[in-house]
Amino acid sequence: MNAVEVKDLHFGYGKKSRNVLDGLDFSCEKGSVNVLLGLNGSGKTTLIKILAGLYENYTGEVFLFGRDLKTISVAERSKMTAYVAQRSAGADDFTVRNYLLFGKVNRTKFYSAPSAKDREDTLRYAERFGISGLLDKNLGQLSGGERQIVGVCCAAVQDTDLIVLDEPTSALDIRNQHVVLSLIKEIAVSEGKTFILSSHNPNHALYLGGEVHVIKDGRIAFQGAACETVTAEKMRSVYGEDVCISKDLPYNEISFGKFR
Ligand code: ADP
Repeated sequence: MNAVEVKDLHFGYGKKSRNVLDGLDFSCEKGSVNVLLGLNGSGKTTLIKILAGLYENYTGEVFLFGRDLKTISVAERSKMTAYVAQRSAGADDFTVRNYLLFGKVNRTKFYSAPSAKDREDTLRYAERFGISGLLDKNLGQLSGGERQIVGVCCAAVQDTDLIVLDEPTSALDIRNQHVVLSLIKEIAVSEGKTFILSSHNPNHALYLGGEVHVIKDGRIAFQGAACETVTAEKMRSVYGEDVCISKDLPYNEISFGKFR
């Protein structure tokens, strides 16, 4: 059974507007890492929001772990899927420690406090993500990048089988991009979680080495292993003729982290 199965998905933002997603088919296996690529406005965020259960007025079929998304209650969905939006606002006056603990609410009974194990789990993830030093800061005191890492860490804390991340590295420096991408890879392997994330950087898809799904004209234009999908030819057909890979460049491209 696939983690996610999307069949003939159509979605538009208004009755009179064009369909942003127009007959899109998408699937991903359990435990896989999936990168959504495509031009600005191609529909990556829209697809992610549909998978996160935020838009229900789509036509077509969306299955999460074999179940029709429309039949899954919010409470059940919160145990299946963690979602991190492109930009998160609010919660400025909460400490990072408490914000991460909110990640445990999906499994906490009404009127109960988080357990000692919940606290331990949260601290363990904070350490893994290199944000232990931020635990007593308020969210409002963080930089955009720090806030982004806290958001991804909070998704991991939620203990869901599916994690959906909208541009999780957009505010990060090259070192932290590497930290977050490496953790995504590691958590997918060690915990069997399925990741779906959007990115503007095809190199990230190559680094992650999972599956790539390229959205164009409301559908998936290419889909397959990163090394077979992020090719100069395919990327040119999406982003334009000027796409180069490093061997075409007159200078050495700066990158961080060894490609394995
Ligand atoms: P991407 O994430 O690939 O940049 P989006 O899914 O954000 O693309 O947007 C796809 C299209 O839908 C764009 O043309 C965008 O203008 C439009 N769109 C996105 N959100 C809304 C909204 N809330 N209302 C109306 N149109 C929207």
